[in-house]
This record gives sequence, structure tokens and C-alpha cells, in this order.
Amino acid sequence: MPGTAGPAVPPELPELMIAGPGELHEADLEALAGQVIAHFGDFWTAILEETLARLGRLLGAAQSPYLIPGAGSTCLDAAVLNMFEPGQRVVVPNTGFFGVRLIEIATSHRLQVVEVPVEVGAPVDPERLADVIGGADGVLVTHVETSTGVRHPVEAIARIAHDAGAVCVVDGISSVGGELLDVDAAGIELLVTATQKGLEAPPGLGVIALGPGGRERIEARSRRPESWYLDLHTWDWYRANWSWHPHPVTMPVNLVRSLLSSLQRIDRAGLRECVGRRADLAKRCREGLRQLGLEPVPQAGCEANLVVAAWTDDPSKVQRSLLERGIMISGGLQPTYGKAIRVGLMGRTATTEMVDRVLEGVAASLGPDRPARR
Ligand SMILES: *Cc1c(COP(=O)(O)O)cnc(C)c1O
Repeated sequence: MPGTAGPAVPPELPELMIAGPGELHEADLEALAGQVIAHFGDFWTAILEETLARLGRLLGAAQSPYLIPGAGSTCLDAAVLNMFEPGQRVVVPNTGFFGVRLIEIATSHRLQVVEVPVEVGAPVDPERLADVIGGADGVLVTHVETSTGVRHPVEAIARIAHDAGAVCVVDGISSVGGELLDVDAAGIELLVTATQKGLEAPPGLGVIALGPGGRERIEARSRRPESWYLDLHTWDWYRANWSWHPHPVTMPVNLVRSLLSSLQRIDRAGLRECVGRRADLAKRCREGLRQLGLEPVPQAGCEANLVVAAWTDDPSKVQRSLLERGIMISGGLQPTYGKAIRVGLMGRTATTEMVDRVLEGVAASLGPDRPARR
């Protein structure tokens, strides 16, 4: 386009089947492209309220969630900062790349971290946590570990935490919208998610939902967290005192409107139905890859719905072959780096047709003498 500022956009961008973000559905894209509106006043606060109400219902959280501009990791940082105080002890299963991120965040907030090793492809064993949880203040756990495509048993982990008097903080960034998890029913004190994965909205907003014990924990702190932006009290104060502008900063109004459009679509279809369909699609993808000789990374029974990870000798060759067909998938991420491909099932491209195109592309990349199914 003549006169367009910025670098040229390649004429044919590949369709995204990466492990997040997903491509937007048409209606959500239109909401994103709408004119900027004021981030205060009746029109805006009605949009925000509906968004938070739908989000709270989807998360199974009676307390209104926090919607905080930033990445999902902004809210992971806020979660650890608000729930714990320096010197406290947390147990963190090393589930892979994002388990390690939780360890790094906890360490950066000067917590004592008890790392629990987890076999690649296996779910966290709650019994192993039970062995080390005595005296700990909390557990930090990834619900769906995006580097392995494994879903971890957060309900059982929350029970173990509570039996030991510890709180349970969950990274649900790659699970919310694609798995069923009810914050209040599971008794999770704090759940973090973001908008760009299972919620199928643009990146740029993090979400924090507090369960019943989460608020108590925050109120029981000896002192306020050392941050202004990440201190949930800052957000609470504006909510309580500035009803016409119930947040401390200028909200990215278009991101919120696009998120609302996506939440309306999920609600029309029904979350349970959406999750069921995504599970079927993940199975189709997983079984198709297995038939081509690419064994799933997750053990049977803990396979996630939003990301399918499968072992392969040369992931970059598979990725290149798919790019030639106009589709971008992900390679591995520690501990699967260089050893696996990951297919994201999020957003507009999470369809049977696209999964079948991925499978065709993978088959083509393996060539005529690909290993036969064992
Ligand atoms: C994507 C992802 C993150 C990081 O999210 P950002 O929005 O990039 O900060 C964290 N945890 C998990 C499990 C993820 O899948």
C-alpha cells in the first residue's frame, strides 16, 4: 500500500498454528479495528463490566477478575508479588519452560523455592508434592505446560496445598478457554491467564482471578508489595473510588472490545461445547501425527487441548515444509527444544480443515521413506 508507514508486510503471511497467539475471528478483528473510544464514562464502563462479568463466569470465579494491560507474565509477576512476602517458601514443579519461568519469578521476588522435578511428558505427581510441602507457604504450578503440551492436575495439587496450609497459584495462560477449570470450585487462591491463547483475543492483556482464599491471603500481608502497578490494592482502589474510570491506567480499549467480542462468541457456543470440540480436534491432530510416526510428548491421559506436542528428529525441516504450504507451527521449547513440533489449536485456524492441512504438510516433509507407524 503506497504511503503506509513502517516496514513492508510480506504479501502472504502464513496462517498461524503456533503455540499462541492464535489468529482472530472476523468479528473480534472488527472490534479491534474500531475507532478508539474514551477509557472512562458510562459507555466504556458498561463494556468493561460486561467483559469482566463474562470472564468471571468463564473462570468460575465469583470475585470480579482483574484485567491488567501487559503480557500474561505481567500477571504472573503480580501474582507472586501479591500472594507472598520475601523469605516465604514456595514449591514449584519444574514442568518445563513455563515451570522454570515460575521458579525465576519466585526467585526474583526473594522467595525460597523448592523445585520439584517432573518427568518430561508426565503429569505432576501430587504425592511427590505432598512429600516436600510441609512448612511451605504456597505452590506455583502451570496448568497446561506449553513446552510439552501436558495438562497438570491442578485440582489435586490445590488439595495437597490446602492440606498443608499452603495456597495454590496457577498459571492458566495456555489452558483457560481450552480446558475446564473452575477457580472457586477447585479452591485455587489465584489463577493467571492472558487473552491471546484459549480466549482467542489479541495479546496485550493479562487476567488475575482470585479464589475464596486469595483475597484473605492478600489482606493478611504484613506490608504492601513493593510495586505500584502490580500491587492489586492499586487496582482495587480505583475500582472502589473511581466508578467512572475503575482502573489506574488508560486501558487499551480496543483490546478489551475485541476480548468482549470473543467472550460473547464463546458464551454463544457454550464453554463446555467449545472445550469438547477442542479436545476432539487435539485428538485428531495427535493421532494423525502418531500415524506419521511422531509420538506425542504427553503420556496418555494428560494431553492438553490447545497445544499438541509430538517428538520428531528434525523439527525445523517439518516447520519449513509447512511454511511452504502457508502454515506456521512451533518447534520445541525446553525441554523439547530441537526435538519436537508443537501445533497450536487456538483462534480462527483451530479447525478440522487446518489440522488436516498440517498433517498433509508433515507427511510431505517426511518424504516417501518416512518411518512406518510402530
Ligand atoms: C504463553 C505462556 C506464558 C507467557 O505469556 P506472555 O503473555 O507471553 O507473558 C506463560 N505461561 C504459559 C503456560 C504460557 O503458555
